[in-house]
Amino acid sequence: MKGEIRIDRELCKGCGFCVIACPKKIIEIDSDFNSSGYYPAKVVSMDECTGCALCATFCPEVAIEVYQLTEKE
Ligand code: SF4
Ligand code: SF4
Repeated sequence: MKGEIRIDRELCKGCGFCVIACPKKIIEIDSDFNSSGYYPAKVVSMDECTGCALCATFCPEVAIEVYQLTEKE
């Protein structure tokens, strides 16, 4: 299955739980900070996302939305 996530940079506090949780290791901490001064998470390779939603499950700030994409026939 393919998936896609959106991380709300302003809600994110840069805790890194999603980075650890992602089995595909496609989330990293950004080098640019947000308006609250936190370094937010970002996806580096969305193509590899499976939509498993583990990242969102572990996010204490509810900053991640997960979309499961259905393949067109
Ligand atoms: S949905 Fe799964 S594969 Fe996609 S970024 Fe989150 S933890 Fe990684
Ligand atoms: S788990 Fe949530 S708050 Fe923590 S770095 Fe990831 S998106 Fe940000």
